Amino acid sequence: MPEDLQTIKKHYELAILGCGPAGMSAALNAKIRNRDFILLGSELCSPKLSKAPRVENWLGFPEITGEDLRQRCLKHVKEKGIPIVSFKVTNIYPGPPYTLVGQDQSIEADAVIIATGVSVDKLFPGEAELLGSGVGYCATCDGPLYKNKNVAIVSYNQEGEAEASFMADLCSKVYYIPYYSSDLSKLDPRIEVKKGKVKGIIGPEIVKQLDLGEEQLTVDGVFIIRDTLPAEQLISGLEMEDAAIKVNHKLETSMPGLYAAGDCTGQPYQLIKAAGEGGTAALHAIRYLDNLKK
Ligand SMILES: Cc1cc2nc3c(=O)[nH]c(=O)nc-3n(C[C@H](O)[C@H](O)[C@H](O)COP(=O)(O)OP(=O)(O)OC[C@H]3O[C@@H](n4cnc5c(N)ncnc54)[C@H](O)[C@@H]3O)c2cc1C
Repeated sequence: MPEDLQTIKKHYELAILGCGPAGMSAALNAKIRNRDFILLGSELCSPKLSKAPRVENWLGFPEITGEDLRQRCLKHVKEKGIPIVSFKVTNIYPGPPYTLVGQDQSIEADAVIIATGVSVDKLFPGEAELLGSGVGYCATCDGPLYKNKNVAIVSYNQEGEAEASFMADLCSKVYYIPYYSSDLSKLDPRIEVKKGKVKGIIGPEIVKQLDLGEEQLTVDGVFIIRDTLPAEQLISGLEMEDAAIKVNHKLETSMPGLYAAGDCTGQPYQLIKAAGEGGTAALHAIRYLDNLKK
């Protein structure tokens, strides 16, 4: 189980973002080399791995299920004394040192490995253009900016329910647009649930409306809660190629000290590729950190 944030430091040599096979493999290599690092993840490491019914291409384990493999990976990481810190990063500010920002907290690191997997959900029309101008990925982080205003929360998972409840205390109106099925009858009655699907977020300069097709909601902010944020939204200026983070054979991205590994670097989306890239990225990040000190 991920640990909470109480025990973490302000600064690390290396931050590994994502606790799937790529992130865990990177962490293992950093630990074996006795480095100062932190492994950040979400509640379930990783949802994709747990959903794989039967994995046939993980060398040495011909019959293993995704959930079995997940448990083995977690056990391995735990036995090595690597804590997984539950911290969803919503923004990375370029460095070095890089600043990783999440709810109520930020962490600095001289090098970062992005291992956040890939989001299958396409961006909504207007989302990229209005990011930072009313569109955000963490309502509780930006909450005070929307005091007495109208906001909509579009959520792919139950995480959005807590965000909506938090905003209901601050905002004049909170709309909730779930992209998952769940019983929402216990949701705060001040929150208005809308069943429509998002056709677009309307500006032009700042968010004015959320288009749900049959109705347009007048809002000042739209928060989108996904399991995985699109990488290009996580850090601005990151070079992409075919919707994946562009890396070279050392898993270096277009920014110094910033590495990427796993599904987020593109196809094939496979466990063995993710784990291999995670380990490789860690080794190159360590070499980079050593050179920084010289
Ligand atoms: C149903 C299914 C079956 C599959 N079967 C196979 C198979 O048989 N063989 C095979 O090789 N592959 C299979 N795959 C693909 C495999 O699961 C992926 O390639 C692999 O999990 C990718 O690993 P990753 O570490 O790159 O990303 P992920 O496993 O997606 O892990 C990324 C992690 O990062 C976390 N994260 C994301 N964003 C943030 C953030 N901003 N802050 C903090 N944490 C974050 C996520 O919650 C997640 O825990 C399957 C996938 C699915 C969905």
